[in-house]
Amino acid sequence: MSTEKGPNFLAEIIAEDVKNGKHGGRVLTRFPPEPNGYLHIGHSKSICLNFGIAQQFGGKTNLRFDDTNPEKEETEYVESIKADIKWLGFEWANEFYASDYFSKLYAFAVRLIEKNLAYVDDSSAEEIANMKGTPTTPGMESPYRLRTTEENLDLFARMRKGEFKDGEKVLRARIDMTSPNMHFRDPILYRIKHTDHHRTGSEWCIYPMYDFAHGQSDAIEEITHSICTLEFEVHRPLYEWFISKLELFPSHQYEFARLNLNYTVMSKRKLLQLVNDKHVSGWDDPRMPTISALRRRGYTPESIRNFAERVGVARRENIIDVGLLEFCVREDLNKKATRVMAVLDPLKMIIENYPEGKSEMLTTDNNTEDEKAGTREIPFSRELFIEADDFMETPEKKFFRLAPGKMVRLKSAFIVECTDFEKYENGKVSLIRARYVPESKSGQDTSGLQVKGVIHWVSAQHAVPAEIRLYERLFNVEDPSSEEGDFKEYINPDSLHILKNAMLEPSLKESKPGMLYQFMRKGYFTPDKDSSAEKLVFNRTVTLKDSFVKETTK
Ligand code: ATP
Ligand code: MG
Repeated sequence: MSTEKGPNFLAEIIAEDVKNGKHGGRVLTRFPPEPNGYLHIGHSKSICLNFGIAQQFGGKTNLRFDDTNPEKEETEYVESIKADIKWLGFEWANEFYASDYFSKLYAFAVRLIEKNLAYVDDSSAEEIANMKGTPTTPGMESPYRLRTTEENLDLFARMRKGEFKDGEKVLRARIDMTSPNMHFRDPILYRIKHTDHHRTGSEWCIYPMYDFAHGQSDAIEEITHSICTLEFEVHRPLYEWFISKLELFPSHQYEFARLNLNYTVMSKRKLLQLVNDKHVSGWDDPRMPTISALRRRGYTPESIRNFAERVGVARRENIIDVGLLEFCVREDLNKKATRVMAVLDPLKMIIENYPEGKSEMLTTDNNTEDEKAGTREIPFSRELFIEADDFMETPEKKFFRLAPGKMVRLKSAFIVECTDFEKYENGKVSLIRARYVPESKSGQDTSGLQVKGVIHWVSAQHAVPAEIRLYERLFNVEDPSSEEGDFKEYINPDSLHILKNAMLEPSLKESKPGMLYQFMRKGYFTPDKDSSAEKLVFNRTVTLKDSFVKETTK
């Protein structure tokens, strides 16, 4: 797995443009989300690229909502998109909406009609599709193609006034029905939709198509480098055609390969299905690939920005291993997360030679990777919880933790020896008894004992209970979208494990969403948004080690 900074061919192009004084050396990019869903990790690559590259060359970035589809767009999505971009650490120069330009776009359409480059077509959607031809056979010209300019101007004005029903008419560019580029075969510019828009309300009943909105919006804003994903490459000639026929600012489009990640899906349409069909609890369910889900799960903005850097910017499509994303968050959390003790599957341990009723405070490091993180006190007493799997009645070879007669060090505390244990009727171990070595206190150990294992623990009387949520991949296959049948058939039914009885050290009582922890030996965790002082709930962000590598190299 490459963890180096990846290549970026766009930075080279822009460096050259700046050097040559193109657009006066000015760089203005834009990030153009459609507000029809929450942003996902794929978008974060586009965000990091658009904002990052502008920063690199002293330029700016506009946030432009591409809101030309009134049925699918909502203000909730606009707000979530803004919050996610800010959280990732970027600031836009201007917040614009394609809908801000509806009047201008309408005027552009009128200009094309006047130049005899657009016409109103009464054909149905089906007729238009049938006349479109195929990539290898030419299309057929519509019978309405030769309407006069006057007639077109009149009909288009009446479309705008609402005189026609949805689908009765469209405005098309008059280009070339035989072009090998299907996008040139008289593309539709406007369609009638009597639908309220999230911003313009009922002001418009005709809406521009993507191709007639995007490039022109870029040109209106004088975007110098319009960066998008490769599927728009075939649209580029049309982008340029409109700009040249309308004599607009010469924005230029550049394409790069979209980010694909394995074991997930990344189209908003599919993510919306997961939400609507209740396969997940919402857009920010920590198993989702959305930015809001990653945030809720404990990912940091730095880890996502580093991930985008490492993936790099190329023109070749590939699928990135989710292991790289996990590597990036581990690397960041290793520096930032407070080390704490949390017992996920508690087993009671009674230290019989420790006085009843006594407790003492022991000192432990907050983060051994960060000297400035300091230390804190944790209570120790006669009854502790340890992880059930840190004890074995009959230890396997190389099991260096607790077993009858075996010793182990309790992290930041004492060495203990297991003396005895008890069982429930079902055979499960119900408690263990131990004795501790008073002179073995961490940092001042004079016992001379050597023990191999170190385990974490919490004092039973001081422990705070919590619910812990552990996550697995949401899908069982690497690329659910390319499998046969519906992608939802490949959902992993076992992607969420809830542990109801975890016991945490008392300092975690004060934890809040956004706080980052390493539960020693168990992974990185963060309080969920459902967490409260009455009921603590933690998400596991990621395990400590890459279990995936082990699985696949077995
Ligand atoms: P989806 O297909 O997931 O619904 P989209 O492309 O329709 O996404 P937009 O809101 O139109 O979503 O995307 C905004 C910007 O983000 C576009 O410039 C788009 O090219 C880019 N983008 C979307 N998905 C990815 C991805 N997986 N990798 C990189 N960039 C992406
Ligand atoms: Mg889109």
